[in-house]
Formats: sequence, structure tokens, C-alpha cells
Amino acid sequence: MAHKIALMKGDGIGAEVMEAALQVLGAIQERFQIEMILTDAPGGDTTLTEEGSALPPDSLQVIRDSDALLKGPVGESALDVIVKLRQDLDLFANLRPLKALPHIPSFRDDIDLLIVRENTEGLYVGMEFEVGDNALALRLISRGASVRIAEYAFKMASRRRKKIVMVHKANVLRKTDGLFSNVVKEVSTKFPQVELESMYVDACAMNLIRNPESFDVIVTTNMFGDILSDEAAQLVGGLGVAPSANIGTSFGLFEPVHGAAPDIAGKGQANPIAMILSMKMMLSWFGESREDDSCNEAASAVEKAVINTLQGGIRTPELGGTSTTNDVGKAISSSLLS
Ligand code: ATP
Repeated sequence: MAHKIALMKGDGIGAEVMEAALQVLGAIQERFQIEMILTDAPGGDTTLTEEGSALPPDSLQVIRDSDALLKGPVGESALDVIVKLRQDLDLFANLRPLKALPHIPSFRDDIDLLIVRENTEGLYVGMEFEVGDNALALRLISRGASVRIAEYAFKMASRRRKKIVMVHKANVLRKTDGLFSNVVKEVSTKFPQVELESMYVDACAMNLIRNPESFDVIVTTNMFGDILSDEAAQLVGGLGVAPSANIGTSFGLFEPVHGAAPDIAGKGQANPIAMILSMKMMLSWFGESREDDSCNEAASAVEKAVINTLQGGIRTPELGGTSTTNDVGKAISSSLLS
């Protein structure tokens, strides 16, 4: 089965980290003989300057014709790109795995959690109004979107350590988070093997620092998930190693958590591991959603190759090393082929 992948390198360090990731993808194709059809889908600030749109119709068409998008960071026009894609492709689940990798500074070495964030509504629906001297924002929580994200999170937890913490603030947001937490409880009855715990968002922010190792899967609404996942990324080595996925019913978008990082763009200092681990998430998703075992094997091999590379002391400056973006990409590719 051929996997059709659209590629958007984005802005700033995007080109460098994408080049490293493509080197690794080349090694995967060579070792696992996975058929992939790669097509460029330009987007972001540079594309806006050159073509008058941050997400031109041609790119959108390439993306719609693909199975997945591997996306680099986009600068100022990030919202025009990602929000449009989330809506257009109905990417309802935002996944952020936070796993301590050996040989890089982590808060603890036994952190392995997954944040499953509802991606389409909450306070981010953009319903804001000015009323005289005041401003107000509407927070949309629907039963349908809550069921969908809860079911997705329970399925993920069933394959992991079978523990879910649902994070909300239903003691204050009685209607919206009341609905969300009731729906998660209802869905939990279909997954008796998964243990469900309820936690207020402020307690969760504290517990992520106090005992991050106790979490397996966190399921939450849009803005809480956004904030908690940036907090949790700091526990496991920071932005240079934090991948993410946006998943819909039949399409996946995979991108590093970090932005375009203009301060280090073009200097060869960017860590490509976040981009490479995002690609690893894409392989796992192909493995699972398209039942392609070679993609699952390739995903495990990428993780091992990343660990081997870090163990060999090949690290970019933000992790205390002296290696370049290209050195890291090359080392991970070589490890895959050795
Ligand atoms: P955005 O608003 O787009 O997220 P930002 O400037 O707030 O942009 P980033 O672009 O992610 O955030 O950069 C934040 C800091 O992290 C910068 O100092 C940047 O150099 C650093 N950084 C981000 N990504 C990487 C990376 N892959 N490797 C090394 N350092 C990185």
C-alpha cells in the first residue's frame, strides 16, 4: 500500500528540520521498503509573500489528495494555516506524547504520558465580541465533539497503561465542563478496563510538576490541553524534542510543537528530533489506521535510532551539545541503516 504524504516545510528553521526528517524518511524507505509518495505543499509566511496566500489552493488540494501532512513550523501566518487545516480536514484530536528520552535532561526519567486535547471547539472557536467597553468570548462544548474525543482517548489508553485523567473545571464552568465531564464518564462505561480519574485543571497543572510519572493519558478541552501540553513539554527536554499530531477520521497532520524559531534559523542549530518524532507518530498512525505492520516496525526503529544518537553524544546546542541539525539527521539515518 502506498502512503501519500504532503510536505510543508514552513518558515524559519522549518527547512532545516524538514531536510533532516526527509533524510531519515529516506533511510526508512530503504530499510523497510515502505512505499511513500511525497508531494510538496508550500505554506506559511514565505508562501504568503510569494503567492499572496499562506495556504494557496494548490497546496490545499495536494493536502486533500494525501493521507497525511508532515508539516514544519509556520511563522506569523501559523494560525491562518493550522486553523484552516484543522477545520477543513476536521482534525478533532490533538495528541501530544511527552516521554522522557534517555540521555537528555528530563525532570524524571519515568515520564511517559499522552495529552489528548479536543481540537475544534472550547474557547478557541473565535466567537469574541466587543460590547461597549467590554469584551466577551463564548466557549462552545458540544456533546458530539466530547463523545468523539473521549472515545479516541479511551482507545489510546486501552493500548497503553489503561489510566485516564479527565481534566476540567466543572466546579466553576458548570454547564460547559459539566457536560464534558458527564460525557467522559458515560463513555468510560464502554471501556471498563480503563481506570478513570477526574481532576480540576489547576490541580493537574500542579500534579504535572509534583508527580508527572503517575499520568498515562490526559483527556481535556481545547485551551486547557494547549496550556498543559506546553507545561508538560518542559518536563521532558523542551521544544526541540516535542512532537505532536492532529488527527481526523481519515487524515493526520504531524508537526513539531515548536515555532519557526527565527532566532536560530539558518544557523544549523535547530534540533530536528521534534520533527523526526512527529514523523514517527505519522508512521505509527499509518500502522494503526491503515494496518500496515511495516510502518509500526519503522516507528519503533526511529525511536531506537533517536535514542542511539543521543547516547552517542550527538546533540544540538539547546541540549548542551555541539552537533548541527544535519549531524543529528545523518546520525539517526545511519543508525537506522546499521
Ligand atoms: P511561536 O509563537 O511560533 O511558537 P516562539 O518564538 O514563541 O514562536 P519558538 O519559535 O518555538 O517559539 O521558539 C521558542 C524558543 O525555543 C526559541 O529560543 C527557539 O530558538 C527555541 N527553539 C524552538 N524550536 C527549537 C528547536 N527545534 N531546536 C532548538 N531550539 C528551538
